[in-house]
Amino acid sequence: MVGDSGQSGLLVGLEIHQQLACSTKLFCNCPPIKSEALPYHFERRLRPAQSETGGVDPAAVFEFSKGKSNKYFWSPESSCLVEADEEPPHPLSLEGLDSALLVAKTLGSKVIDEVHVMRKIVIDGSNTGGFQRTAVVGLGGSIDVGGEKVGVQSVTLEEDAARILGEDSTSRQFALDRLGVPLVEVALDPVRGDPELVGKVALYLGRVLRSTGKVARGLGTIRQDLNVSLSGGKVVEVKGVQKLNLLPRVVEYERARQSALVSVASRLNEGGVKAVSCGITDVTDAARDSGSRVLRERALEGGKVVAVTARGLKGLLGWEPAPGFRLGKEVAEVARANSLGGVIHSDEFEHQGIRQQEEALLRTLTGAGADDAIVLLAGLSEQVDACVPRIVERLKGAVAGVPAETRAATDAGETRYMRPRPGSQRMYPETDIPNIGVTRRMLADLGKMVPQNWEARVSKLAETYDLSEDMALKLYDSELDSEFEALAGELKLEPSVVASTLVDLPARLAREGVPEPALGLDILSEVLRTVARGKIAKEAIPDVLKAVGAGNRDVEMAIRSLGLERADESRIRAVIESVMLRNAGLAREKGDAAFAQLMGEAMKELRGRADGAAVARILKAKLSQAGRPSK
Ligand SMILES: [Zn+2]
Repeated sequence: MVGDSGQSGLLVGLEIHQQLACSTKLFCNCPPIKSEALPYHFERRLRPAQSETGGVDPAAVFEFSKGKSNKYFWSPESSCLVEADEEPPHPLSLEGLDSALLVAKTLGSKVIDEVHVMRKIVIDGSNTGGFQRTAVVGLGGSIDVGGEKVGVQSVTLEEDAARILGEDSTSRQFALDRLGVPLVEVALDPVRGDPELVGKVALYLGRVLRSTGKVARGLGTIRQDLNVSLSGGKVVEVKGVQKLNLLPRVVEYERARQSALVSVASRLNEGGVKAVSCGITDVTDAARDSGSRVLRERALEGGKVVAVTARGLKGLLGWEPAPGFRLGKEVAEVARANSLGGVIHSDEFEHQGIRQQEEALLRTLTGAGADDAIVLLAGLSEQVDACVPRIVERLKGAVAGVPAETRAATDAGETRYMRPRPGSQRMYPETDIPNIGVTRRMLADLGKMVPQNWEARVSKLAETYDLSEDMALKLYDSELDSEFEALAGELKLEPSVVASTLVDLPARLAREGVPEPALGLDILSEVLRTVARGKIAKEAIPDVLKAVGAGNRDVEMAIRSLGLERADESRIRAVIESVMLRNAGLAREKGDAAFAQLMGEAMKELRGRADGAAVARILKAKLSQAGRPSK
């Protein structure tokens, strides 16, 4: 643990999943590519099995209880019988293993002597076999983030899961192209839950991983999971934070949510409630006359309505200890994760059309007292039956504050309930794959490959090409540093022009509405080459890129359509002369002091068709001529 835990005592453990740049998947020879067309499909149902220790995983039972089938779509270009679980896995890819070992070495982890592939139960359908293959390759190590040392717990080589395409009430659809793609998972020691620090740590770790040169690039190749807990509380796992800049927001959201749940528990404890007891009553008949349209319709359509009572919880489901956070919302999320639309609870009966008379009837039918809460579930009979135990469990958990659960990060930086946290019985050995000894020879070879520290790499970039540290870091983060070096070496251009064209301009133009994908490396390189050949001035680069982005025209056409061919010296002279003529008084009065204004006007008129240095040179000469007394 790093630093003090702060007032809230929030602790955050980061787990980064980074795709490795390999030529094949981990357990077969398929290439790790994304298939646009997935012409074939098959269907499977998974069931939870007992692990070797005899237990059944609660997360597995949860997913199974949803009763959904899984449809897998695939293409022979990216999947084979291994992904379909119809053929045993091939031996572990040594390319993937080497990459993961190098990551471990780079993080200062102790590399383990023998790599054992394990099966980790995953029953959300994202693996055709019902498990993910995973192998720990390193333990321990650390990174130093701006003076704060953060420990590494483990470095693990894993296969990625299938890509989810969609989900409806009866099935989930997956693409098999991503299944089996090699990933390295780095789990860090918890740091204090300072949202900014968590963001910094993740950014830093991403940079270290990239320094190995063994990781895949681009959007979607890195995924962050968080383990968040308040001091002494249960750990909440938040999965799938895709964007680095969302991390601080997600941490802040969890801090507020977990604190709110602790407040609810405190109120219960202060009221002397040590345990919440629940009752379950089928109220379908009564619901046929309900003031709530939803309940009435479900009951009349042959569905089921169940009332779950919770002793002593009245008033606490609708209470907002912090804006937007209510126990009632948590309960509704559990229902939604169990295929129901949500719940109606007694703190919002009025709002849902349930009047006093109906509430009185419900209290009579269920035996609920005045201090007890009632939670109503409605839906298809089997779905309601599967959901009731989950709701009971959640309500009972209110006394303990924060329950251990797995949540998903949303694009807005919030979190949503997914399922209970997996138990500890979810690993067992993969007997189809032989263990691999890590020899001294392998370690010695790896030792030679450990990369230069990324900070040194950034400093070197800045120094070699006379760039600001900030620009060098942007190049490194954009993963275009190698491309930059190639272009800067090839073209007779100021490196800072090459750098800003590669990393600053696309983002700036994106803010002006130019779609970023339209400005790929090929287009950017071509524009830079055109400048280097002297065909256009560097000042014209933004206009050319805008034109290319707007019409998808090629660079040549964009230049012609804009009339941006570089102005020759006589054209520049003509423009400067007309500007000076227009401002004759100014030039006479101020002499050289008029330079800036005249320069601005001339550049505006030349609109990117001339190099600023050439314009300045001619203008200065003209001004000094004009300043000389006439004979
Ligand atoms: Zn394959």
